[in-house]
Amino acid sequence: VKGVKIENLWKIFPPNVVALKNINVEIKPGEFYVILGPSGSGKTTLLRIIAGLEVPTKGRVVIGDKIVVDAEKGIFVEPRDRNIGMVFQNWALYPHMTAYDNIAFPLKLKKLPREEIDKKVKEVAEALGIADLLDRKPGHMSGGQQQRVAVARALVKQPDILLLDEPFSNLDARIRVTAREFVKEIQKKLGITTILVTHDQADAFAVGDRVMVLRNGETQQMGSPEELYNEPANVFIANFIGDPPMNIYKLPVNHRILEQLGLSKKYEGKYSELYIGIRPDEAVALKQGDEGHLVGKVAIIEYVGSRRYAKIDLGNGLSIRVLLETKIDHGDLATIRISRLHVFAPN
Ligand code: ADP
Ligand code: MG
Repeated sequence: VKGVKIENLWKIFPPNVVALKNINVEIKPGEFYVILGPSGSGKTTLLRIIAGLEVPTKGRVVIGDKIVVDAEKGIFVEPRDRNIGMVFQNWALYPHMTAYDNIAFPLKLKKLPREEIDKKVKEVAEALGIADLLDRKPGHMSGGQQQRVAVARALVKQPDILLLDEPFSNLDARIRVTAREFVKEIQKKLGITTILVTHDQADAFAVGDRVMVLRNGETQQMGSPEELYNEPANVFIANFIGDPPMNIYKLPVNHRILEQLGLSKKYEGKYSELYIGIRPDEAVALKQGDEGHLVGKVAIIEYVGSRRYAKIDLGNGLSIRVLLETKIDHGDLATIRISRLHVFAPN
């Protein structure tokens, strides 16, 4: 099993679109690594450089102990010699071919004998639970089934590395959950080093051993899902990760709320403004008079999954969403008890 090293990688599309800025990451053999970032942050460009479909402006990529591209040294290994399987964002199945022929295609390109192709196609189809779909064309399969065929096609060559570009974005919410499990199970079963890119934090957290957050081509933070959730490095990540989203406020350091939270004294003189973040799951609404940190009026009560949240009006146009576990109604006053406060310096 091979790892991937990405060193000082830059991509500038002429004349001056900086798609990737000095990316450095070491992906361990057998790891499921996720690159998470909004649209346009450089995710696809990074995958295409690893696959050899794009050339970096600076830097290099090492797979196992082989340099597959080094911009400075002028090294470039052709995509077909990198032994990489890639699933593209739209799956890119050939619509006029059956699932069987789609999966067999990479092996036919390699001019393997017919019997060997047949054996490998059936093996991978069996492993991915699509053996009974092999005669169908993509138009006669569900989204989830097409995705499995696309993954089978990427895996049939037994690649060293599997690259997945937004593999769940064409699937509706319910199927997404199953599809994530499927991809994660296959990855663990095969132990194949996998890099998945997505704009969806739920995708990233469902499958990733480690996650890198990308913004405008720049690494914002790298870590396990737990680390990113518990210790977001900046407001961008705090905003991007967590569902329901973190409550985030930019307030003057002497603001009433910062005083109530005991932050004004601590940060006075250091900053004139502060960002504070409170996760809805790290604060609860309690009955008026209970011990807490802030007081407000319940504006909205909503269910998310099995949990109940209250949106509470704090005055001055500010509101906060927090967990609601006691019996409180719309319009009631409530005390808010905060178990964890995130503080970010203004940038
Ligand atoms: P993502 O996959 O995260 O949405 P991309 O890697 O597709 O982002 O794009 C990153 C940036 O590079 C974007 O600003 C995009 O417009 C630009 N870009 C991507 N491909 C090209 C190209 N072939 N020519 C010029 N600009 C490109
Ligand atoms: Mg993309």
